[in-house]
Amino acid sequence: MRIDSARSDQLQEWESELSAQYQRICQHELSLDLTRGKPSADQLHLSDGLDGILNGDYRAADGTDTRNYGGLEGLQCARELGADILQVPTEEVMAAGNSSLTLMYHAVLTGYLFGFAGNTPWREMKSPKFLCPVPGYDRHFSICEQLGIGMVNVPMTATGPDMDAVEEQIRGDSEIIGIWCVPKFSNPTGVTYDKETVDRLAQLGQFANPGFRIFWDNAYAIHDLEHQVNLPGIREATHENDTGDSVLQFASTSKVTHAGAGLAFVSASEANLASLKKQMQAMTIGPDKVNQLRHSRFFGEFTLLREHMQKHAQILNPKFECVQSQLEKAFADTDLGTWEEPKGGYFVSFNTRPGCAAAVIQLAADAGVKLTPAGATFPYGKDPEDRNIRIAPSFPPLEELDTAMSVFVLCVKLASVRKQLGML
Ligand code: PMP
Repeated sequence: MRIDSARSDQLQEWESELSAQYQRICQHELSLDLTRGKPSADQLHLSDGLDGILNGDYRAADGTDTRNYGGLEGLQCARELGADILQVPTEEVMAAGNSSLTLMYHAVLTGYLFGFAGNTPWREMKSPKFLCPVPGYDRHFSICEQLGIGMVNVPMTATGPDMDAVEEQIRGDSEIIGIWCVPKFSNPTGVTYDKETVDRLAQLGQFANPGFRIFWDNAYAIHDLEHQVNLPGIREATHENDTGDSVLQFASTSKVTHAGAGLAFVSASEANLASLKKQMQAMTIGPDKVNQLRHSRFFGEFTLLREHMQKHAQILNPKFECVQSQLEKAFADTDLGTWEEPKGGYFVSFNTRPGCAAAVIQLAADAGVKLTPAGATFPYGKDPEDRNIRIAPSFPPLEELDTAMSVFVLCVKLASVRKQLGML
């Protein structure tokens, strides 16, 4: 099916065939959900051994009684786990509570209210802004929106953010004070940044506002599917460029053990960590060290963590293959959409023809298949071309995913034809 070269009688014919198919599907009264990137129950079971693992022994290897208060930076063994995940020195890591998003929120607050490393607090600027590679992660954008920090879209490419656009924005506006990055298996495009992108990001600190920070949200650092994909180190790159203060790195075990019941990590320079701790110490006496010890005992060494992630991959692989094969079968050699083939992470990003995404999502919803709302992958929920749809295949069982994808491809075809006929 090629829309651009189709005659109008051909389009009319397709429209009635596809509408008939769509009506038949609607009669099945499906109730399927491809919205959020949640692990499936099978994946969660992989970590059930956490329960009871301490068996009455609450002392960490360094003698800390984890049942008691204290230790804002987290247990040493938990910091080591974070250091392994982020591939940074342990002394540069804080191990915190259950959510990296919370840590990112606090980091943005620190920059906004107090400023990092002695720099001007962002709230004292006229119009502080973050660069937002798009499509991106909606919850990053919500943090900025809630605090009234402006957002400037920059396009994502197959190798990371469009660095010409990033550099141009920063050179043209000294009130750009941050950039959101999901550098490995990006949410939602699945892209991993290449070496040139990482190097150019590391150089931004040389000419950006001194308070500028890269929010390096490495949420999918170890979430490879079939083969391990290498992300060039941002820490090393910033050290080579004398911009070590320009980056804050984040990770968590949310999609490693139990989602929302794991550990979160932040890694940064001494000066940045000092700023962050100053803000956090007014807020908490310390993190849940009992859970930190549980995680540390559960994994023991990094090789066990890698093996654990391979078990996740075995569950996820067939689901990602299902999405790819449905998209390939329906849209290879058509002009109906483009998509990525991620090598890890939790999402597949699909671009419809311009002006069709909201219609696809509505058609799918009416047929009983929930998709992430149109525009969600853009700041303020506004996709300027109405094209991007984030598919999250992890949660439903394979059979349901396959059915949901059949509905999805049908809705893409129907919306594309209707758009071309001026029916949308
Ligand atoms: N960052 C990204 C890019 C994510 O996709 C997610 C989960 N969807 C998070 C952060 C949230 O992580 P946490 O559970 O550690 O808050």
